[in-house]
Amino acid sequence: MAYDPNNIFAKILRGEIPCSKVYEDEHVLAFNDINPQTAKHVLVIPKGAYVSFDDFSQDASEAEIAALMRATGQIARDLGVAETGYRTVSNTGEDALQEVPHFHLHIFAGQPLGRMIKPPHK
Ligand code: AMP
Repeated sequence: MAYDPNNIFAKILRGEIPCSKVYEDEHVLAFNDINPQTAKHVLVIPKGAYVSFDDFSQDASEAEIAALMRATGQIARDLGVAETGYRTVSNTGEDALQEVPHFHLHIFAGQPLGRMIKPPHK
């Protein structure tokens, strides 16, 4: 899938719409989810134009991949949830109901999170 430069996270990266920023470095921006699913819900995104985990994992540089992983752990520590626990999720494509076509990791935290997946059948 081609990258859509008008997706909402691209607009946030260009400063065209605001976000509640929690972290930024050369390769990464993180902000609070506008519709939090848990007590703490942060989105971690690369600054580069990647649609999903799929092309990020194929096309991003080592530096970009390392930065995103390092930042995610740092943000969890900064949120104070490294000890109590948290969940990272990345929805890719149709089966995962990915809504925003700019790669992002969700950090869910701040409360017991229940089971990882409720299967739609069985
Ligand atoms: P996904 O379904 O994995 O693509 O998740 C997209 C997430 O982006 C959802 O949790 C939305 O609540 C969140 N979201 C959409 N627009 C914004 C925005 N302007 N600022 C922060 N989070 C947003």
